[in-house]
Amino acid sequence: MMPKRKASTSFRKETDAGHNQKVEATPAEEVEEIDQDDICPICHLLLYRPVRTRCNHTLCEACMAHWADVSITSQMTTVGLDDQAVVLLPHEIETRCPMCRTSTTATFDPLRESALRRQYPKSFKAREIESTLADEDDVATKIEILTVYIGNQHRLIRAYDESNNRHDWTFFVRPSRTDLIEEMQIFLHPTFRNPRVIKQYPPYEVRRLGWGYFTIFVNIILKAGYSWVSSEAEDTPDGAPKGKLPLEWTLDFNGRGSQGRLRLKVRKEKEGQEAEDEEEREEVRRLWARQRVADPDWGDPEDVS
Ligand SMILES: [Zn+2]
Ligand SMILES: [Zn+2]
Repeated sequence: MMPKRKASTSFRKETDAGHNQKVEATPAEEVEEIDQDDICPICHLLLYRPVRTRCNHTLCEACMAHWADVSITSQMTTVGLDDQAVVLLPHEIETRCPMCRTSTTATFDPLRESALRRQYPKSFKAREIESTLADEDDVATKIEILTVYIGNQHRLIRAYDESNNRHDWTFFVRPSRTDLIEEMQIFLHPTFRNPRVIKQYPPYEVRRLGWGYFTIFVNIILKAGYSWVSSEAEDTPDGAPKGKLPLEWTLDFNGRGSQGRLRLKVRKEKEGQEAEDEEEREEVRRLWARQRVADPDWGDPEDVS
């Protein structure tokens, strides 16, 4: 649904009794009236870097990222064996929609942003300044969320003698993002030949034939520059802080097997040149913002970067 022109009566699908009044985004300057449809339902300000969910709700990117960050739990949920990870693009945010609570992804909507920029030039500028000066929302946008399925498939191979039944099992780890993962270290029971299996590329699977069930230990190692946001994470042997997440799975020999689902958070660390560049840009933005307070006709930040 595209934004409506301000003059028309706005039709709203959801009634949100508490927020029918117009919001003043820039109380210090000349006030622009903002249409209810152009206000973020989380921060109640003009939408800034709007992202749209698959369920067709729109909110600020930082608000969505923050929401995704606080709403996920790291507990494993047992799910059906046919449940599959949706493979996400690197810029997509996966979470439950804060408005309708369905599982969804959100993607940036550049058309909506340029429409907002045109329609509310003053309020948009104010939001821009505000967001470049807020150090904290930078943190929120650097968090990536991924879903990991861990489990096993199973098939019973019957012998003439019941006590000699064997199990054909395939253990797997299926993440929704594979671009963040350096390798999977999988540790089987030491009675297996080659119990330590390293997988650098998907599918991250191990298939064996065995007599009994046991617990498999896995380390998910992230690529350089990424770290797990989890108290269970550990440093990697080559010193990457919180680059390793240990997980475990006890083989399930009932029926076809089973799997669990985990929602995990990964932080992207800025380092080296990238961090230096960012610092420099930040400094320019600050100078610019300070200058603009003194002289409202001062140019755009785009002109100096
Ligand atoms: Zn917002
Ligand atoms: Zn929704």
